[in-house]
Amino acid sequence: MNIFEKIVAGEIPCNKVHENESYLAFHDISPKAPIHILAIPKKCYTSFQDVPPSVMAGLTSFIQEVAHKVGLDQSGYRIISNIGQDGGQEVPHLHFHILGGGRLSWGDFREHGAMHSHSPKEDDNKKSL
Ligand code: 5GP
Repeated sequence: MNIFEKIVAGEIPCNKVHENESYLAFHDISPKAPIHILAIPKKCYTSFQDVPPSVMAGLTSFIQEVAHKVGLDQSGYRIISNIGQDGGQEVPHLHFHILGGGRLSWGDFREHGAMHSHSPKEDDNKKSL
């Protein structure tokens, strides 16, 4: 079981924000913004790449409810889902980061050594970006 499955099963505690039959939202243990919540389907899909559209439809409504519940719907917020190795995903259970509570910065993902290509050919392409 991955760590989020253990949270769903109640084996690991979480600071719960919102829940229904199919989805759970809880505060991230290591917040990257004043408000940093994770929204997950209770059933495990490895990432966004594997989730059926019907589950995403429910998750969309659920995230909107979470944003409303914590007061981010008016001020604005950001949702991020990291996918796989290059996406920087650490927990192999689909989750959306809900970030807000202040003006969020935005970066250039080509900087800070953030891009490591898989092949020299890709590196050539990226140099011309
Ligand atoms: P990823 O890098 O996979 O997109 O994000 C995983 C997130 O899960 C990270 O932001 C990390 O802080 C959070 N996280 C990892 N383990 C736990 C945990 O046991 N509890 C909670 N609440 N968050 C966790």
